[in-house]
Amino acid sequence: MKITKSKRAVPEADRAKMVAKPGFGKYYTDHMVVAEWTEEKGWSEPELKPYGPVSLDPAAMVFHYGQEIFEGMKAYRQPDGSITLFRPEANAKRFANSARRLALPELPEETFIETIEALVKQDSAWVPGKIGESLYIRPFMFATEVGLGVRPTNRALYMLIATPAGAYFKPEDAVTVWISTEYVRAAIGGTGEAKCGGNYAASLVAQKEAALKGCDQVVWIDAKERRWIEEMGGMNLYFVKGKGADATVFTPKLTGTLLPGITRDSILSVAADLGYKVEETMVSIDDWRDGVESGLITEIFACGTAAVVTPVGCAKSVMGTWPTGDGTPGPITMQIRNTLLGIQHGTIPDTHNWLKKVL
Ligand SMILES: *Cc1c(COP(=O)(O)O)cnc(C)c1O
Repeated sequence: MKITKSKRAVPEADRAKMVAKPGFGKYYTDHMVVAEWTEEKGWSEPELKPYGPVSLDPAAMVFHYGQEIFEGMKAYRQPDGSITLFRPEANAKRFANSARRLALPELPEETFIETIEALVKQDSAWVPGKIGESLYIRPFMFATEVGLGVRPTNRALYMLIATPAGAYFKPEDAVTVWISTEYVRAAIGGTGEAKCGGNYAASLVAQKEAALKGCDQVVWIDAKERRWIEEMGGMNLYFVKGKGADATVFTPKLTGTLLPGITRDSILSVAADLGYKVEETMVSIDDWRDGVESGLITEIFACGTAAVVTPVGCAKSVMGTWPTGDGTPGPITMQIRNTLLGIQHGTIPDTHNWLKKVL
């Protein structure tokens, strides 16, 4: 890998201030990684270089036909000061799957992980230290062939950037969700399983509708029968049936239209480790309403890399308003959240071998 160090890195005192109050996506580290692919030559040697703008021809295909994919993952500071990634091979695999679906070239999984390790090592001073804080890593790839013909690109750019991320979860912040019966996120045969920018672009109008209804997030239902619960915004959903040690923790089954979240997958194991029954199953709108009204469903939460676990306090839709319990974050939600965070930050044993030490 080629390494060109920045001559204009952020001065230490300024960086320390940014890392102490990182927010999310507000500051970017001093470096980035770029690799170019062409049909003729394949992948170039990746280069780590100073963070900065990219110059693209206005006719670059990504601007017109949206051929783009991305990933989201985090590096966590451990109690001994070392830095680890969480299940980076899972992100590498998913990135390759997304590339196949969007007719982009596959980046070898070793290259994906190698570039992430290089960037995190180089910019390790940007990794915050408190529980819930992390360095958020954003790999992405897009079509750069110049031309307006609609066809798979013969040229692409892979890039990697990183931003320090704060612990923005406040336990009292359970979200209210809008179950959208108007818009659809994904249909069978579509791009729902891929992490592509287009999915997000198509979701924004529904997000806007949710905000107009006084909600924080949109919940997606399936495209065909319009009754199965799929996801919340860019996060997967979990439900808790019952209370205490006998509770069952369940999540909508992966049908091909859900994005297979790595947090979702990790929670299947974490919840089982904690002694709960765990199920992947079909969850209908009626199950949600009847469940919270009868008290059978006691907790609901969403999960994803960025926020880890977010409690769902209330659901609204054209069919009515359904609070979850008393609307505050439930004990099992918080226990799962704290366990997963503990594993990621190295305060709880990593029995599944999920952590990969970088530095
Ligand atoms: C990224 C994403 C998720 C969560 O995936 P994680 O790997 O847990 O971060 C869930 N749903 C959608 C639509 C996503 O894009």
